[in-house]
Amino acid sequence: MNALQFETPGKVNIIKVDVPSIKPNEVLLKVHYIGICGTDLSTFRGLNPLVQYPVIPGHEISAEIVEVGSQVPAHITTGQLATANPYTHCGKCPSCKRRRYNACQYNETMGVQRGGAMQEYIILPWEKLLINEKLNKEQLALVEPLSVGFHAVARGTVTDIDTVLVIGCGMIGAGAIIRAALRGARVIAVDLDDHKLAIAKKLGAKHTINAGKDDLPECLRTITAGQGPDVVIEAVGSPATYVTAIEQVAFTGRVVYIGYAKNEVAFSTKLFVQKELDIRGSRNALPEDFVAVMNYMESGKLPLEDLITSKLAPAAVGQAMQDWSARPGEVIKLFVDFSK
Ligand SMILES: [Zn+2]
Ligand SMILES: [Zn+2]
Repeated sequence: MNALQFETPGKVNIIKVDVPSIKPNEVLLKVHYIGICGTDLSTFRGLNPLVQYPVIPGHEISAEIVEVGSQVPAHITTGQLATANPYTHCGKCPSCKRRRYNACQYNETMGVQRGGAMQEYIILPWEKLLINEKLNKEQLALVEPLSVGFHAVARGTVTDIDTVLVIGCGMIGAGAIIRAALRGARVIAVDLDDHKLAIAKKLGAKHTINAGKDDLPECLRTITAGQGPDVVIEAVGSPATYVTAIEQVAFTGRVVYIGYAKNEVAFSTKLFVQKELDIRGSRNALPEDFVAVMNYMESGKLPLEDLITSKLAPAAVGQAMQDWSARPGEVIKLFVDFSK
């Protein structure tokens, strides 16, 4: 079968690999769509320190079950569509002991520390499958990326009395906007791209601010009557937005960081103390976040056509990655189509 491989940074190949055979607790899946994640872009650019090349990328999965092992429970059958939880956890580290498996110290994610899903067939232990027969192939491939933003909202303990500022309206920010709005919060979305801000509105943002055109602190003062947002969710990962989150959040507010900042960030730490802030990291997602995303998708409200930038044949991925790398603001989600 065909698999897509990043041989070295910038070099994308289609390679031939054997279709593996399943163990009794595993299922064989025929892959339909695999979403390309920002993490995969970092791997393509050679900026992901966790990856060893060559690697088969991909962890945002939509696939059909085509074979089940002898010890797989009977409710899992061939023909079902599924996505999957692409993270492993060790069960023994401090995070796992606290049942925060998403942040396992020894986490491995498909396509990062281990082989990924960008191939025609994949094998998974049945416990990793998320089967939902009401969702279509496009929706299933968006469950994992949206769940990351959903998790950040959980980390921010957002409720209906909060004003939540979401910085960055890519796929992760989109998940945060949807979840914060579902929880009844008033959401303010910030980005540099008007198209993404228009989508943010559709997803539930009450206010949008283009930080490249408008004065962000001034806009926030107006919207929040000088109080500042109760919660700031940072979904960009740049030093400037890391600092903005601390500066703009209300006194005694919560700041949640999802973006990985590649460079060191300089903070005026007095604000941590003066505002008595809760500053929290957010990584991956928990099983309950996946469930919440799928419940939301069942409502049919997710505007798929706005979020899926394009669907690519595997052979077109190399060029698409180069284009995306050159203009990262223009892509929300690329799918690779392995069904043909
Ligand atoms: Zn991802
Ligand atoms: Zn662990």
